[in-house]
Amino acid sequence: MSGASTPAPGRLETVRRFVNTLDIDAGTDALTSPGQLVGWLSSADLLTGTTGGGRDDLVHAVAVREALRDVLAANHGGEPIPPTALTVLNDAAGRARLTATLTARDGWRSRPSAGGVDGALGGLLALVGDAMADGTWSRLKVCVNDTCRWAFYDESRARSGKWCSMQVCGNRAKQRAWRGRRAESTP
Ligand SMILES: [Zn+2]
Repeated sequence: MSGASTPAPGRLETVRRFVNTLDIDAGTDALTSPGQLVGWLSSADLLTGTTGGGRDDLVHAVAVREALRDVLAANHGGEPIPPTALTVLNDAAGRARLTATLTARDGWRSRPSAGGVDGALGGLLALVGDAMADGTWSRLKVCVNDTCRWAFYDESRARSGKWCSMQVCGNRAKQRAWRGRRAESTP
């Protein structure tokens, strides 16, 4: 699934775009080489300079991406964040040396003091922290369709959005439910 879902406000959109570098439905991944990773992080204004970009960095970045996807899945309702995702993200925060700084207007803000890809991934996690502080984080979710899991921003008043798009995955789910009911009612 790509394109049709609602963008997130402000810099949170960078986090959504990062998670959506893997398009499960289409079977495409924009992060399959260290060069692609460095290019993506630079274009998102997360990476400055030319440091980093080895195989290890790519493996680490993909692990962070999938851990973030798990956290977004937990945003659908009261489930806690899975322990594996917590381990990956806390490890990434440590590698980035995230440091909390008190700011004049925005309260405590975490920023990475490490450079390279570790620091850039820390910059992403800092955006997550900012969104948690301003209340927008809980609206960022992944589609509940297991073959999609596209990240989208839930603008529904009741915060009850489940699918990346009503037209695509919402309709697929409705059709499945309809076929299921029809099968049950057929003797
Ligand atoms: Zn979907």
